[in-house]
Amino acid sequence: MQSEKNKVNSEGREYPLGDIETKTCTHCSVSFDITDKDLEFYEKISPVFGGMKYPIPSPTLCPDCRLQRKMPWRNEKKLYKRKCDFS
Ligand SMILES: [Zn+2]
Repeated sequence: MQSEKNKVNSEGREYPLGDIETKTCTHCSVSFDITDKDLEFYEKISPVFGGMKYPIPSPTLCPDCRLQRKMPWRNEKKLYKRKCDFS
């Protein structure tokens, strides 16, 4: 089990520096690039539990579709200027 996890890790790191992976969005079929910097970032933010690294997979959706999926979860604050109820 341990060796399987390590294999996934090394697969995630096998892209040489400066390499760009081109993927096709599974939602809108637009092709988009995943740079080595992106992969580096996913590697950096991958959580480690009990000494075991759980790599975050590279995205399957294009940036636009990811943004679209993120937007409903945003909770924008709006402050209003008005007189206090106690005054
Ligand atoms: Zn898309």
